[in-house]
Amino acid sequence: MSARSQKILIVGAGIGGLAAALALLRAGFAVELHEQARALREVGAGVQLSANATRALAHLGVLDVLRETACEAQGKEIRLWSTGQTWPLFDLGAESVRQYGYPYLTVYRPDLLAVLEAAVRAADPHCLRLGAKATGFAQDSAGVSLNRADGGSARGAALIGADGIHSNLRAALFGADKPSFTGLIAWRGVVPMDRLPAHLHRMVGTNWVGPGRHVVHYPLRAGQLMNIVGIVERGDWQVESWSTQGDPAELLRDFAGWHDDVQTLMGAIQTPFKWALATREPLMRWSEGRVSLLGDACHPTLPMLAQGACQAIEDGVVLARALTAHADIPAALRAYETARVARTARMVRGSAENATRFHNPALAHAEGAASYVDREWAEDKIRARYDWLFTYRADEVPI
Ligand code: FAD
Repeated sequence: MSARSQKILIVGAGIGGLAAALALLRAGFAVELHEQARALREVGAGVQLSANATRALAHLGVLDVLRETACEAQGKEIRLWSTGQTWPLFDLGAESVRQYGYPYLTVYRPDLLAVLEAAVRAADPHCLRLGAKATGFAQDSAGVSLNRADGGSARGAALIGADGIHSNLRAALFGADKPSFTGLIAWRGVVPMDRLPAHLHRMVGTNWVGPGRHVVHYPLRAGQLMNIVGIVERGDWQVESWSTQGDPAELLRDFAGWHDDVQTLMGAIQTPFKWALATREPLMRWSEGRVSLLGDACHPTLPMLAQGACQAIEDGVVLARALTAHADIPAALRAYETARVARTARMVRGSAENATRFHNPALAHAEGAASYVDREWAEDKIRARYDWLFTYRADEVPI
């Protein structure tokens, strides 16, 4: 039997699960996508999609529609927490397309999810099963059975866990993970652009750096919204969650003494959310027979390279190609994992390194800070940190 005549089960319809379902449907597989939520939701936050991810989305046929609501960032810059001194980090916009063939987009997460969901439903109106919480699975030589909390079950040739950072499938395959809290918390909020002064209405991504904390902000939705993330070294909070609200006064206290623009941005957030950032050693294998993992389920990462969702999208494209290339399912899943493991582990480690760079004590005083920024963000170092990420071709890499 050719692999394509078989059904692939996916658990989790986040960005990764939806991208994988779409890639598999486009490749001609039958797919069932089981999602615990009763309706697909993404948090009201932004996500940056670099050229490696927008290339994969173009391959899936959804880039043009996504561009209608996204922002095409014109560049990125570094700013110093105290003086506001600004250094260009790299040009994006036309430069991203010239260098890497694809744009660098900043996207409101619910817009990305809606585009992926619509494409999956258009390809197969019955693929998505909502209110379908997976509780366990069993595999044998002929297939995999999936059990659900509602008493339902499903049978397929392969099972893919795209069930996120707290993945139950990962725990069932490899045991409970060991998150180690970094002592960093991420504050985040999205504000209407018209609540900010005109000089902040720019189509660039800005990265404020300073001792013990940093701030990232970039426009969304054709410039109607500003996405703001502030990362602070604080050991008193250990909950990894997109939905835990924080106190606006506490957020302002965390950035007391920072440049007026940062105060303005943080002050504009009416409902801030906070997330404790943890690291995990990258898995060196994540497939077992007919069962494999994808996205945050197998390579959760700190957000300092803005690559978690990008890598989840790449995973889906490579997975569909591996299942197309190999009729034997366990061999296909091994080929998928082999193609992805070194890249995603390097991304996880690179993100952790960026945390120390963004928060370095050398940034405390303006004189020392300027030479630190010139050194750490010199063009050759930026290229070494980002080019290997942005040049990847999920639709072409050898499998
Ligand atoms: P998730 O989005 O977590 O989806 C998992 C899905 O599985 C959910 O829908 C869940 O309901 C479902 N599920 C879980 N268990 C079950 C079950 N038992 N049964 C059925 N369904 C289940 N990445 C970028 O590329 N660019 C960025 O700019 C960026 N910024 C970030 C900023 C912050 C502050 C953070 C914390 C992360 C950021 N990331 C970024 C990372 C990115 O958000 C994640 O890597 C990405 O969302 C992971 O997608 P996923 O589909 O693997 O998992």
